[in-house]
Amino acid sequence: MQEIFDDIRSDFRYDHELNGCLNCGICTATCPSAQFYDYSPREIVQLLWTENVEQIYDAMQEKIWACAQCMTCAARCPFKNSPGGLVAIMREVAIKHGMQSAKDVLRPFGRVMLKLITTGNQLSPDMIQPDHFPDWGPNIQKVEGDLKTLRKAIPLKTLQTTETAWEVSLKTSIEMYTIWEMTGVLKSLETMDENLFDVIEDFIDEKKEEYEEWLEEQN
Ligand code: SF4
Ligand code: SF4
Repeated sequence: MQEIFDDIRSDFRYDHELNGCLNCGICTATCPSAQFYDYSPREIVQLLWTENVEQIYDAMQEKIWACAQCMTCAARCPFKNSPGGLVAIMREVAIKHGMQSAKDVLRPFGRVMLKLITTGNQLSPDMIQPDHFPDWGPNIQKVEGDLKTLRKAIPLKTLQTTETAWEVSLKTSIEMYTIWEMTGVLKSLETMDENLFDVIEDFIDEKKEEYEEWLEEQN
């Protein structure tokens, strides 16, 4: 627990996001998540300010994941604290330590990540199927029809696809993989979901080889 708190405390943003706390509750009064969940930014800030290591750890099991990261709190705090910013740090530390709460929250995003890494975008037109969006009711009829023909009517050629929202070049994909590697996103993924990491790593290796071959052909 102490190690987790030390990691939060040593984050370079920490002293900028926490400057004291009056316990006034303005942040909680303006927080949309506090209206719907058992969550209070005032409580989170107080736990950090008083260095209550045990309860900080408890809050990281569930409460911090209720924050919508809208930053309304940061705009209102008389101390210029950013409770939302502090929550962001706590979440990153939870991921770094492979906490179960982080795994549970991030699991549904695995498919999004896979789609992103393989196509360069998260959503594709062919994912908008009536069966997948029953909550749209009769409005779903508006997107039904011959998707390929509809997409071909778009003047921009890169948007005339149905399996991806737009075409992403191999060079752009390689740049994205490099950013993910250098910023630690892939390392976090390995901690969160080893199976997904293996699939994605194999895919990236394949694409990198493809890119190297393409570069050689150009010389
Ligand atoms: S973080 Fe700011 S707004 Fe929230 S209770 Fe503390 S002083 Fe008040
Ligand atoms: S950033 Fe989080 S804590 Fe701050 S107001 Fe938005 S939901 Fe609430």
